[in-house]
Amino acid sequence: MSEERSGILKGAKRILVKVGSGVLTGDDGLDLNIIEQLVDEISAYSKRGFHFVIVSSGAIASGTHRMGFKKKLKSLPQKQAAAAVGQGRLMRVYSQAFGKHGLVTAQILLTMSDLTDRQRFLNVRNTLSTLMEWGVIPIINENDTVSVDEIKFGDNDNLASMMANITEANLLINLTNTEGLYDRDPRGSQASRLIPLVREITAQIEEAASSEADTVGMGGMRSKVIAAKKVTAFGIPYIIAHGKKAGIVGEILSGRETGTLFLPGAQHLKSKKHWIAFTLRSRGKLYVDEGAQDAIMNQGKSLLPSGIIKVEGDFGVGDPVTCVDATGVPIAKGLVNYSSSDIDKIRGLKTSRIEQVLGEKPYDEIIHRDNMAVSG
Ligand code: GLU
Repeated sequence: MSEERSGILKGAKRILVKVGSGVLTGDDGLDLNIIEQLVDEISAYSKRGFHFVIVSSGAIASGTHRMGFKKKLKSLPQKQAAAAVGQGRLMRVYSQAFGKHGLVTAQILLTMSDLTDRQRFLNVRNTLSTLMEWGVIPIINENDTVSVDEIKFGDNDNLASMMANITEANLLINLTNTEGLYDRDPRGSQASRLIPLVREITAQIEEAASSEADTVGMGGMRSKVIAAKKVTAFGIPYIIAHGKKAGIVGEILSGRETGTLFLPGAQHLKSKKHWIAFTLRSRGKLYVDEGAQDAIMNQGKSLLPSGIIKVEGDFGVGDPVTCVDATGVPIAKGLVNYSSSDIDKIRGLKTSRIEQVLGEKPYDEIIHRDNMAVSG
């Protein structure tokens, strides 16, 4: 057992466990044995003072099976209808399994728009922390029945990565139906080897993650690695491991070598900056000159009108916007104090001229440092 590994995992008391459809479902729909195995383990640790939040897939797969369809559903209405059938069944299974240990579960269904609105984001956070205070196990899934592309998390790897921020988890365990991340796609090559530890998510690591989704869930390894980036940027360690293995949670928490551990990033984004960087969708771009780029990247400064060369997109006050260098490479993302049309009028000017041009000057900065996340 490596000391580094156990050092990181020791002290993780608030744990987010993401369970994929490939773990929870088999040929006969929900795999009750696997669910019980997992719930038994989580319950035992809960009684020892660990707090768990679960992000669980399985609604669509369970509903598809219940309706007797043999193939993966294709159309959105069909998937949404299957989720409506399956979600209740999924919760009943969890509730009964945890109930055997005297533990209570709660269902939380979310869409992306519940998190992009700061007020709703904070409400979700308050609800979750109250549930945890009560010792209840929150079980979260995407609200597939009402989700449309615009407001979709897309997959539960992404949803779980955002939940790690909201729940202030010390560890995210992503349980899937492979051992972890391999240096090449294990399905195509005999010579693939498991990568036990990832210190930094390099281009090589991203390449190692096959872009093909697995057959049951939506994410595949690629989305698990993208999620790892978000989670580790928040200072949270992240493990991809085999969810069907008996005793897997205990193996991880005791620091045994299993799965792929992604070490937390050295610089941790605070909750609000993480939310800006990873939850919000950018509405436009601000091209900045070298001076502004240096001020943002190296001096911890805000973005002023004088450093802006060009505005792209149509956005309003408070919208998330990406700052890019003169060649278009993103350097930061933040919430703007002025609309795109106003920024276009004052770009390149000194702050002292804002009022003269716009007739008022509510702020000196276009993006205040407190509302800006700089790319790592
Ligand atoms: N929300 C989907 C479900 O419950 C799963 C999404 C995913 O597997 O990433 O079926």
